[in-house]
Amino acid sequence: MHNTQSGTLSGTLFGQWTLHRAAIAGLFLALSLPVQADDAPADDFRQCVTGLRDHAIEAGVSEETARGVLAEVEHLDRVIELDRRQPEFTTTFADYLNRRVNEDRISNGRALLKEHGELLERVTEATGVPAPYLVAFWGLETNFGAYFGKMPVPSSLATLACDKRRSTFFTEQLTAALRIIDEGAIAPEQMEGSWAGAMGHVQFMPTVFLKHAVDGDGDGKRDLWNSLPDAMMSAGHFLRDLGWDGDYRWGREVLLPEDFDYAMADGRRLDLKQWNELGVTDAFGNALAGEPIKAALVVPSGHRGPAFLAYRNFNVIMGWNRSEFYAIAVGHLADRIAGAGELQNPPPEDQPNLSRNNILTLQQTLNDKGFESGKPDGIMGPATRSAIRDYQADNQRIADGYPSQDILNELTVNLDD
Ligand code: CA
Repeated sequence: MHNTQSGTLSGTLFGQWTLHRAAIAGLFLALSLPVQADDAPADDFRQCVTGLRDHAIEAGVSEETARGVLAEVEHLDRVIELDRRQPEFTTTFADYLNRRVNEDRISNGRALLKEHGELLERVTEATGVPAPYLVAFWGLETNFGAYFGKMPVPSSLATLACDKRRSTFFTEQLTAALRIIDEGAIAPEQMEGSWAGAMGHVQFMPTVFLKHAVDGDGDGKRDLWNSLPDAMMSAGHFLRDLGWDGDYRWGREVLLPEDFDYAMADGRRLDLKQWNELGVTDAFGNALAGEPIKAALVVPSGHRGPAFLAYRNFNVIMGWNRSEFYAIAVGHLADRIAGAGELQNPPPEDQPNLSRNNILTLQQTLNDKGFESGKPDGIMGPATRSAIRDYQADNQRIADGYPSQDILNELTVNLDD
């Protein structure tokens, strides 16, 4: 799913709670419509839907579509349940990557790259996005079209629009979904997707669909469910619209020298030449080529794991899904599909999945010991990483700011919370 409005959520690396992407949109919560209480009776839902209908018609959706589709929507308790779900533990980078980039997915991706070579080449010509990336997005979003989600999108979106948490965002998504039905892209009863309304081969949210989807097979319809040419061409157009730079890759794995200052991995963007001067090499120990581009260093599992230089397209991928883990997974899967081997430094698999309580305790303990981590909030952010680095430096450790098991044990965090 694609939430282009997530630009204000800083991509906290270690603190990546497994938020569903739609949850991020909750930060933009605002109320513009009368909404009902969580367990309000059915007639309150109908009343809310009447408001949504009027809103959609005012926004330009045809009366026929607005009335016809919204007369059929139902309140889906399951959607509210999924929306309220709070992950208890953070996901480590190793867990995240290994689940998404594995041998099956790589070999399927390679086969599909060949099978759809002609189509993908056409998309690359039109958008500048190389074929392996298109296949990688397809693989991460729906396992190459294997699973689109089975929820009825109009009902899911109406349910979320009538819920108080993110009414404005989902009202906008519902209106966009009605426009998509209005243009004849798909019959309303066939408009299925994730519980939050992400649809088709590449899981576009309705607003992304409206703005970026294109008709790739020339039949006059934008059908991201049943037409792979439409889906791939739309993915390419979305990435191009987000600023994809066809001249460069997403980034690359790199090696860091001994005694590297991990404070450099704070999002700052330096020329490759500058990284070179700091002793950073490619994954095989060779000097970085003098490409005139800026890159940021990303170290998702601490000093024992891989390091990456993230080029401009890394940020483009994060415009699709604002998660550094996701961006690395897309880039690495694309590399693998294109024929590259495994990471030189695979992420260690023995790192703890921190709970919010663990992080809270860690922050409190760091503060108590004089390592300022800010107001404890249970989320790994720059201040917490910086406090861990200071603590590590004071204790003759590699100061990578990563909350390893050792650090947790030392700082008396109870992992059984
Ligand atoms: Ca089409």
